[in-house]
Amino acid sequence: CKQTTVGSDILASNVQSDVIDSTIESKVDSLLSIMTLEEKIGQMNQYNGFWDLTGPRPEEGVAAKKYEHLRKGWVGSMLNVRGVKDVKAVQKIAVEESRLGIPLIIGFDVIHGYKTMSPIPLAESASWDMDAIRKSAEIAAKEASAAGINWTFAPMVDISRDARWGRVMEGAGEDPFLGSKIAEARIRGFQGEDLSAEHTIIACAKHFAGYGFSESGRDYNTVDVGTSTLNNIIFPPFRAAKEAGVRTFMNSFNELNGVPATGNKMLQRDILKNDWKFNGFIVSDWGSITEMIAHGYAKDGKNATEIAANAGSDMDMESYLYVEHLANLVKEGKVKEELISDAARRILRVKYELGLFEDPYRYCNEDREKKVIGSISNQEAVLDVAKKSIVLLKNDKQLLPLKKEGQKIALIGALASDKNSPLGSWRIAADDNTAVSVIEGMHQYKGNTVVYAKGADVSMGKTTFVTETKINTTDKSEFGEALKVAQQADVVVMVLGEIGFQSGEGRSRSELGLPGVQQELLEEVFKVNKNIVLVLNNGRPLTITWADKHIPAIVEAWHLGTQSGNAIAQVLYGDYNPSGKLPMSFPRNVGQIPIYYNHKNTGRPTEPDPDIVFWSHYSDQKNTPLYAFGHGLSYTTFKYENLKINEVNPSHGAPKIEVSVDITNSGDIEGKEVIQLYIRDLFASITRPVKELKDFKITSLQPGETKTVNFVLDNTNLGFYDNSNQWVVEPGEFEVFVGGSSDKTIKTNFEIR
Ligand code: BGC
Repeated sequence: CKQTTVGSDILASNVQSDVIDSTIESKVDSLLSIMTLEEKIGQMNQYNGFWDLTGPRPEEGVAAKKYEHLRKGWVGSMLNVRGVKDVKAVQKIAVEESRLGIPLIIGFDVIHGYKTMSPIPLAESASWDMDAIRKSAEIAAKEASAAGINWTFAPMVDISRDARWGRVMEGAGEDPFLGSKIAEARIRGFQGEDLSAEHTIIACAKHFAGYGFSESGRDYNTVDVGTSTLNNIIFPPFRAAKEAGVRTFMNSFNELNGVPATGNKMLQRDILKNDWKFNGFIVSDWGSITEMIAHGYAKDGKNATEIAANAGSDMDMESYLYVEHLANLVKEGKVKEELISDAARRILRVKYELGLFEDPYRYCNEDREKKVIGSISNQEAVLDVAKKSIVLLKNDKQLLPLKKEGQKIALIGALASDKNSPLGSWRIAADDNTAVSVIEGMHQYKGNTVVYAKGADVSMGKTTFVTETKINTTDKSEFGEALKVAQQADVVVMVLGEIGFQSGEGRSRSELGLPGVQQELLEEVFKVNKNIVLVLNNGRPLTITWADKHIPAIVEAWHLGTQSGNAIAQVLYGDYNPSGKLPMSFPRNVGQIPIYYNHKNTGRPTEPDPDIVFWSHYSDQKNTPLYAFGHGLSYTTFKYENLKINEVNPSHGAPKIEVSVDITNSGDIEGKEVIQLYIRDLFASITRPVKELKDFKITSLQPGETKTVNFVLDNTNLGFYDNSNQWVVEPGEFEVFVGGSSDKTIKTNFEIR
């Protein structure tokens, strides 16, 4: 499956030319010319740095070896070193004690914030607001760079259709178009306009490729997908990342169609470096070079090194293998020295771009560190994106917004008082318990009486990023108190869901209901008070079919970061009118997974048909999700009308189709709507999805106000990659759908002739 070009001639004109700065190139040339083979290989070596960097240096063990390699110039990058003091200490060794004094790149998982946490990426994606998402990455870059970091292992751009996979919290959901826009926004936020500015950091598009398609949603599991899914679903956000100028990619733990991504030449050398002309560097995932042995793809460490280096993995994260074997492999003729030089060149190029050679300590400014991290303006920015990330799933009986005065509110659920969980998974630098809890947020509104009862814990023991607690609690001893306060309340707000580390890496689940006894608690409370607002705190879609049937109001509040409680309270009280839309379908049960809106038709109907005995359905469940991709309500309502097509040029070759729609705020208050445009190519040389998102726009409307919104369809968005990897736009009939959710649209059609 060799890819030939980035796409077709049609797309070629859109592909940014890869400008290489000739001044930098000549500096890299001169540096390479004086480097020994071992020093070049050293650039390809990355070590983890969890040890005391400012204390006395250890004399033996792994840390001692790392120090020795740093002094020899055999380390190109460190990860998990943070804080100006530590970064300075380690940089000083590289710069002052090694022969050539080449500075290190300092990498860190700045996934959704450094200390001031933004919502988890899946949550932010629900905002569909590219400015807010870019801004949030900008804040993360500001804080991380102030702590000496200059490279984040983000954004994760893996598309996933499987909520069992714990890492969906880290991605942008199920759609390649939305995922591409978000990838671009995040990269622009992290990298800014000027890579060498002290407040920007380089980004890393990960995990190349297919990680989100692990079988049965179990992390690290086998991935087996066809060409069309690879080209049209998995690759687009990576391509968008490349086009946005991302400076690094990370490969992946999974195998793809029998070849581990880390040793996959087709992915790394052929597609990414040759076809897409990516001139930054590729880092392996943590230990993923070694893992090729367990995969059964490499005989031993030396063989794994040979495979990975030849396949195009430029930097070895924590396998300790490149530094051990590469020089010998070159001497034995198994890895060409020019490949080593190419990898070192890519890494050095990025170091020059970051300005590290000019000033290796440019990210090490203690004053900036104190001033920037946790600043009020950072808090305001993350509050803004947190509000935008909230999705109103259901609001029958108009329970929401809550009245601001004279109400007795029962607040129930361990997550309502939790100051840790809202920080979400993947937050290594943030201090524990620093989020605003829901109770704290609700207490800002003084007109009501709020009485809190925990009801039940979610899980037993303490779960952290690295220690997983599998046991959810079975303890119902505090149910009674919760029922008592619920009984006496006008409205019950229940905050239920997952604790912060129940999603994330290595946190796959085979059941997606509310963990522990929370479902039982919900049902018991419902027996005594039906006026329940369910607020979900979670890192992935959950199967809340019972709640959808019985609970009048449901708010998806994810893990919203440092300002979580304030954002939730402002939405509950109507000071912010929610506008978020789901970036991922919510299944009715686990058996429906993988479930996604842009599925294909089969040859059989999905509704009963008197002429057909066997139709495509489940005998015990609907085909449709509980909440579709793009779903999300507001405290006002919107009406879509007059969907019109203007065929400016319907001819095949250079089609231009203008689409317009009228949208009216048909409710009583101002509101914001994400207007989504989908197409369907009705008949094509490979089967096409029943709907594909091709554009969206956000607009605010006053009550009664109508706006006309325009879209353009052309060669860039009417096509697909065929099975010979070519971008094609085919003549024929297309349907166009516009609406406020993938399952609530109005429709028209046009033809390309
Ligand atoms: C994850 C990566 C992460 C790396 C470094 C790995 O386990 O898969 O996404 O960047 O660790 O922390």
